[in-house]
Amino acid sequence: MNLSPYFGAYGGRFVSELLMPALLELEAAWADAALDPAFNAELADLLRHYAGRPTPLYHARAMSRTVGCNVFLKREDLLHGGAHKTNNTLGQVLLAKRMGKKRLVAETGAGQHGVATAMVGALLGLPVTVFMGAKDVARQQPNVLRMQLFGAEVRPVEAGSASLKDAINDAMRHWTEHVEDTFYVFGTAAGPHPYPRMVRAFQRVIGDEARVQIQAATGRLPDCAVACVGGGSNAIGLFAAFLDDPSVALVGVEAGGRGTGAGEHGATLTAGTPGIIHGMRSVLLQNDDGQVQEAHSISAGLDYPSVGPEHAHLRDIGRVQYASATDDEALAALQLLARTEGILPALESSHAIAWVLAQAGRWRPTDSVLINLSGRGDKDLAHVGQALGGGQ
Ligand SMILES: *Cc1c(COP(=O)(O)O)cnc(C)c1O
Repeated sequence: MNLSPYFGAYGGRFVSELLMPALLELEAAWADAALDPAFNAELADLLRHYAGRPTPLYHARAMSRTVGCNVFLKREDLLHGGAHKTNNTLGQVLLAKRMGKKRLVAETGAGQHGVATAMVGALLGLPVTVFMGAKDVARQQPNVLRMQLFGAEVRPVEAGSASLKDAINDAMRHWTEHVEDTFYVFGTAAGPHPYPRMVRAFQRVIGDEARVQIQAATGRLPDCAVACVGGGSNAIGLFAAFLDDPSVALVGVEAGGRGTGAGEHGATLTAGTPGIIHGMRSVLLQNDDGQVQEAHSISAGLDYPSVGPEHAHLRDIGRVQYASATDDEALAALQLLARTEGILPALESSHAIAWVLAQAGRWRPTDSVLINLSGRGDKDLAHVGQALGGGQ
């Protein structure tokens, strides 16, 4: 298995000396577990019987007519917890138990990763502390309650802009102080090595399943595979299975916010520049003085001012194309899918749907496009209602 900390010029392990031993211990434990049939069998069993894998691949007929080719949706919205995040938290928390860790710490932005960690912590019997920006605690009350019902402690973070990037900083600081008995469950394919590779490995089940399923449905590989990109975990989980197939175009869709300029969006791979954040070298949204700028999107799950290092590399080498969709485009895509397919996608996933809709007519009728529907939209109801009520 590849254990290089780098993806081209990106990645690495830019942390304080105090965290280095913990990251080396984690890397060794994961490398050992990944090759252990017993660990993989336990994970596969939980993915199947607890989380509901394999998730279906659905031929979206109405959307196919609209786009002018065969559109397939990989239904991660049907996974227990309502999004792909459960794949990653099950893997990491099983690893934590294997390492003999006694407590879990996690960061969360909109609350989805915090909920997924709290859920699996409850399942596997490890206490969970979740760091969450104070602003997000106020905005995302249902997720705070969910975490508390699972028995987790939610710690509001007042520092900086009281949002996701500050929650990550505090979670890392907490981990530094408790490395002996604590496992840091990181929520996306970013951060210091080995997290980008480890999270990719736990999410790769999405692409591996979809590859088999679409070949069974159409007799061949898709012409294009599309996913939304926040930190990049659901996208890399899908793309990993197709990176070596040059006939499959890969597209990552970031949040373009209100679409009114660089300061107003979260399209890191379009507007970002190289820099170091959260223990990795990647691209990030920063001003001329190197101050990190907040990302702003209608979908809080895409509000990360950086992106996983592998995506920065895949952009540079041209293997993946990165595009963006605006808040309004994502909202329209959510409504279209709801009305024509009876599926309520998460606002994050709606960005991927929106990009495909905007390309209508581009593919031949026999072509197929695979979209990762990363999560369900129930968590976004209040927000969508507000946006539709107030914005139109
Ligand atoms: C968290 C989340 C995302 C963004 O995270 P990635 O790591 O980029 O996948 C996308 N979709 C849903 C439904 C999410 O909850």
